[in-house]
Amino acid sequence: MPSIVQELSGHRDLGGLRILLDCPFKATVLREGPAQDSGPGAAWLAYLCPVHTVDLDGWPGAADHADDGTMPCGTVLDYRSPEGRLQSHADLWLTPLTGVDPAAYGGVWSDFLDQADRVLLARVEEAAAAGEDSPLQNMLASMAVARQRAAQGDLGVAATALGPCETLAQYL
Ligand SMILES: [Zn+2]
Repeated sequence: MPSIVQELSGHRDLGGLRILLDCPFKATVLREGPAQDSGPGAAWLAYLCPVHTVDLDGWPGAADHADDGTMPCGTVLDYRSPEGRLQSHADLWLTPLTGVDPAAYGGVWSDFLDQADRVLLARVEEAAAAGEDSPLQNMLASMAVARQRAAQGDLGVAATALGPCETLAQYL
């Protein structure tokens, strides 16, 4: 990793890699997210091309730094805690998509993921009954991993498993 990334992230270990945009261009900007809730460094760093250096919903930048194509546009390095990353996935796409809010599950992430998965599965089955293929079908495998790992207490892997679902959610 380039040293600017280490510096901006407060030398934290990378929590998860997220792909937010389907964009063929290389980044020209490294956007620094808000400060971590505790300790040094930014919560996340996002790579963006000139077309996408607008404000992205849910990704309020604190500062922009020049980048010369280190990563494809739309790549986000997320340095938050597992719980912080799960909350971000919920806020940005999983709760809007399913109507299931983690606040209703008192911090028990496995229960939240189980309920969200039930909603997705019900929609896939509804579509199948109507003779249609639901694009949500493609989320079920990763959701199964996320649920299983959350139930085992491994919230970091659970949050990472939601990454591919987030990428799919952009096409819905
Ligand atoms: Zn772009």
